[in-house]
Amino acid sequence: MEAKTTAKIKALPQCHRCQGSLVLDHEQDLITGLKLSVLLCINCGSRTPLMKNPVPLYRN
Ligand SMILES: [Zn+2]
Repeated sequence: MEAKTTAKIKALPQCHRCQGSLVLDHEQDLITGLKLSVLLCINCGSRTPLMKNPVPLYRN
């Protein structure tokens, strides 16, 4: 049980600035119709994009 818990904590992404916990967030731009997945630090608010480029919200 203990090893399993440790592995889970290691797998969680950490903020590179403050080592805080990161949560997955999705930014949407309704004007350009693009969305971008980011990792948002709940401690300092730092954002790390998961994707190089935004992807379209809707398929034509
Ligand atoms: Zn942070």
